[in-house]
Amino acid sequence: MSNFTYRKDHIPKGTACNRRPGFAMKPTTITIHNTANEKSSAANERAWLTNPSNKVQASYHIVIDEREAIECIPLNENAWHAGDGSGSTSGNRTSIGIEICESGNYTKTIDNAVMLVAQMLMERGWGVDRLRRHWDWSGKICPRLMYDGGTWSKWYAFKAAVQGRLNELKKEGVASVSDKVTVKAYGKQIKDGKLIDGTVYVPLRAVAEARGDQVSWDNNTKTATIYK
Ligand SMILES: [Zn+2]
Repeated sequence: MSNFTYRKDHIPKGTACNRRPGFAMKPTTITIHNTANEKSSAANERAWLTNPSNKVQASYHIVIDEREAIECIPLNENAWHAGDGSGSTSGNRTSIGIEICESGNYTKTIDNAVMLVAQMLMERGWGVDRLRRHWDWSGKICPRLMYDGGTWSKWYAFKAAVQGRLNELKKEGVASVSDKVTVKAYGKQIKDGKLIDGTVYVPLRAVAEARGDQVSWDNNTKTATIYK
């Protein structure tokens, strides 16, 4: 069973080697990596990003191990993880990079990654077609523990597991993703909404009244009308 915490520990703007360039990003995919380090935990990987002896530009958004996921760069900024340059359609500029640790209990780490990725897809209304390997962008053999001598069988198994978890989340509906969504309209907070399949639902009347409009309801035709 997966069981991990998610915490944010963003590397500072101005981190050496331009590791947090701060280019705005509207992500369209999620890219999966392995750390290629059998000994390092998520906390170790996060610490390495701001270690003075680290001389490489590489960075990523989230690193996950058997215990925790750490968000190292905000998901609306780019990171250098795809090895495919900085063009506007590159993985580096369009994709959220997730590093899967190789240390500790790898089976549990993979379970955690499946859970995390499924949840991220759910929140965005995305399917597993949004998942990429580092290899898809640059040809690097990464995530290396899913390569299987070139058959990538563990990659396909990973995607299938994410799909399975996504199906469960959809069945469970709202509660599994977000019990409540805070909604602000025209400067004030209104009734709480809910997130269902990536869409925020909120009572129509609450939104209309927040901007000084009114709502009528015709029960015969099941029509709601907003009017001044
Ligand atoms: Zn990689």
